Amino acid sequence: MKHSSSCENMIKYQLVARGITDNNVLEAFRKIPRHKFVPKEIEHLAYNDSPLSIGDGQTISQPYIVALMMQILELKKDDKVLEIGTGSGYQTALLAEIAEEVFTVERISSLIRNAETLLNKLDYKNIYYKFGDGTLGWQDGYPEQNEFDKIIIAAAAPDIPKSLTGQLAMNGKLIIPTGNRNFQQLVVITKTGDGYIHTNEGGCMFVPLIGDEGWQE
Ligand code: SAM
Repeated sequence: MKHSSSCENMIKYQLVARGITDNNVLEAFRKIPRHKFVPKEIEHLAYNDSPLSIGDGQTISQPYIVALMMQILELKKDDKVLEIGTGSGYQTALLAEIAEEVFTVERISSLIRNAETLLNKLDYKNIYYKFGDGTLGWQDGYPEQNEFDKIIIAAAAPDIPKSLTGQLAMNGKLIIPTGNRNFQQLVVITKTGDGYIHTNEGGCMFVPLIGDEGWQE
């Protein structure tokens, strides 16, 4: 099957059929060639309903969970988004299709290098990259940015990193899988004038968030 029809089937049967209705999200999935973000030898599996290995013990997440997290965040075109866990760069590209600017952090140097090379080739100009511990958020350096409208964490933490909630703009939303190493809940935090509101969006399974405010290896 051609990649374009596999992509349409993914959107129809994995996303729309499960309740993804945000047109910005669906259009972004339609635009991004997911097969370019997985290793060549498993390109034929790129549009499957599952996570896939991208090397270094890491995964590109299942399409549905990526779409769900993006839909919950209610992304807007003037949003500044912080993404923790660049991985293959696939979700980074989806975010960059919708938001004004995306700031992405990855702790494995080969992954962020490959993602940056690919995303430059695909001509994204609104993405900033950082190699390091994303549990601490977007730290010093170019561009200076200490508040984000949306924060998305694509790896599972034992608790919600305080450095990340501290970088949310007023009325901003953060989404993170939290729990133990095998199973987590998708937690959403909204910053309001009266404090932080927490909601639980159901169970999920992610690779661990490793760092100062995550798991210690
Ligand atoms: N969204 C990615 C994609 O579309 O390919 C998949 C992300 S993968 C499920 C989780 C990523 O989080 C891994 O690449 C892992 O190395 C990264 N990660 C784990 N702990 C991190 C940390 N403290 N800071 C930054 N990245 C981290």
